[in-house]
Amino acid sequence: MKRDYDIVVIGGGHAGAEAAWAAARLGASVALVSMDPHKIGQMSCNPAIGGLAKGQMVREVDALGGLMGLAIDNAGIQFRMLNRSKGPAVWGPRAQADKYKYAVEVQRILATAQNLEVIPGEVADIETEPSGSAAGPSVRAVKLADGTRITCRCAIVTTGTFLRGLMHTGESQTEGGRVGEAAAKGLSGCLEKMGLEMGRLKTGTPPRLKRESIDFTRFELQPGDEKPMPFSYLNEYGDFSWVPPLRQVCCWLGATNEAIHAIIRRNLHRAPMYSGQIASTGPRYCPSIEDKVVRFAEKLSHQIFLEPEGLDTDEIYCNGISTSLPRDVQDEIIRLVPGLEKAEVLRYGYAVEYDMVWPTQIRCTLETKRVAGLFLAGQINGTSGYEEAAAQGLVAGVNAAKYAAGQHVDFILRRDQAYIGVLVDDLVTKPPTEPYRMFTSRAEHRLHLRNDNADARLTELGRSIGLVDDDRWARFNARKEEIARGLAALVGQKVDGIAAADWLRRSETNWTLLSETCPALSPIDPDVGRQIEIRIKYEGYIHRQDRQIERSAQMEGKLIPHSVDYAKVVGLRNEAKQKFAKFTPHSLGQALRISGITPADVSVLAIHLDRRER
Ligand SMILES: Cc1cc2nc3c(=O)[nH]c(=O)nc-3n(C[C@H](O)[C@H](O)[C@H](O)COP(=O)(O)OP(=O)(O)OC[C@H]3O[C@@H](n4cnc5c(N)ncnc54)[C@H](O)[C@@H]3O)c2cc1C
Repeated sequence: MKRDYDIVVIGGGHAGAEAAWAAARLGASVALVSMDPHKIGQMSCNPAIGGLAKGQMVREVDALGGLMGLAIDNAGIQFRMLNRSKGPAVWGPRAQADKYKYAVEVQRILATAQNLEVIPGEVADIETEPSGSAAGPSVRAVKLADGTRITCRCAIVTTGTFLRGLMHTGESQTEGGRVGEAAAKGLSGCLEKMGLEMGRLKTGTPPRLKRESIDFTRFELQPGDEKPMPFSYLNEYGDFSWVPPLRQVCCWLGATNEAIHAIIRRNLHRAPMYSGQIASTGPRYCPSIEDKVVRFAEKLSHQIFLEPEGLDTDEIYCNGISTSLPRDVQDEIIRLVPGLEKAEVLRYGYAVEYDMVWPTQIRCTLETKRVAGLFLAGQINGTSGYEEAAAQGLVAGVNAAKYAAGQHVDFILRRDQAYIGVLVDDLVTKPPTEPYRMFTSRAEHRLHLRNDNADARLTELGRSIGLVDDDRWARFNARKEEIARGLAALVGQKVDGIAAADWLRRSETNWTLLSETCPALSPIDPDVGRQIEIRIKYEGYIHRQDRQIERSAQMEGKLIPHSVDYAKVVGLRNEAKQKFAKFTPHSLGQALRISGITPADVSVLAIHLDRRER
């Protein structure tokens, strides 16, 4: 085994896989150290990728040359475009995964990367050395629990729910990062010793049931889309001609009822969240069934989606009833769901508490402010979800590769460029008080950040960094040219006596109807047609948003050097001095987004920066 790498990625979850893939593709030598290499890419909870806003992020990761979109396209067993009845800004692609095949796909893709080695083991310590500058110490090596020492220039910590992980089911508590896997104990202490402030959060998962023990006739069928849309732009060619490689399946919809809610209320004192056994905060937007019953007491039922965990497995995931109630209570709850009277529980639901690092201590590159070459990505930064983790993994992987190559150019996405930009900006300006998950409502430019145009927003950038290979680049350009051809073909076409573009602006029209009416447009690829339709239909709104983006560009483009001493900024309020020193904003635009900061504070800072430059 080699003992020296540019980058060591610690943890092979969704953040770690994407970080390792991005860094290796940029030419860095990478070691991906994970406790169990067979579990690389494992889905800890819901066997699905994407959804509202999350699906857009997967498309962005893909447009930048990431691996998540490719993996889910090959492992998806049901594809659905969510929110299709609403505007295209909020459409969210989602796919149910064969979770075993998904992990295998991630591992297969990683195996194709050159200069990437997977090393089994637990990282227990990260060594640093004085960097000789005011920047503080820098990473020198990582140490595994078995004593192996690996030297490196960067470490990317992507340890998910494993740092001092503690699982709860009712009164029972077990150490572990997720069921059947040990917790990582050493690393938290090491991060604390470096001076990083740690927090503790929790998340939970529902029970899994045995397929044969369920009476599915009592549930409503939930089929996937008739014409599945792939996540990866590499598969999105000729749009509706793509066929998922795996057999497609249905899910089922059922519901809880008042009898179940009564049992939950009667047993709340045995729920770790309510008995005081868990003190940390869980995701408000992904609540446990006991949380739902308490918080939405007026609701008489909550949905339960039964989702297969794969094609060759018996396990059915009960989406909607995440719980850490004791096993006997879980049994009672399940038996009272119509269709689950005889259901056999293969695995009980549980909650897991874990250590995280408050993300005010990282820059937008995801490098820690305290230790040069130390990057954090994924759940450790207080987020929740595979897609949020993958997005951060890509950002950390690129920045670490640049750092290791001695290129001091930061890879930072803006809020108007990508949901990934929104995610990172939110993390560094508003420390999460609960596990952070992405929503379309978090993005002020969501009409711009659509799932259909992620390539137009990001692929050129990915190419300039070196992440986008020739194949992806050729496809991107072909699609761009076809859009231009389609727009040109539209000129001069008329429907019902009016220009085709004006006709397409009407709410009741669409590209399919138009191309049926105008034979000259029928050769245009339907996917390209959809792009053109969106551009034309929403032109006015998109222009308005473009103008907003232009207005804020000046503030976003005014970068703040790391070396600014806020204590010396004349005329700045003390609170603003403290906040700026803590958050070290990347730009004036970002400074304005820090809570408690006023436009007047930012003006004072802008004057200071101008004077400093002069
Ligand atoms: C019980 C449970 C319930 C969840 N519920 C939800 C939910 O409802 N909604 C949601 O969006 N998300 C949920 N998640 C979270 C989701 O799984 C994570 O957000 C996502 O997997 C985070 O990705 P990650 O890459 O940061 O970490 P993970 O996917 O957790 O991967 C971490 C990896 O790091 C490895 N590792 C850890 N420490 C070390 C070390 N010291 N040395 C070497 N390797 C190490 C682990 O072996 C693992 O491979 C849940 C997770 C769990 C465990």
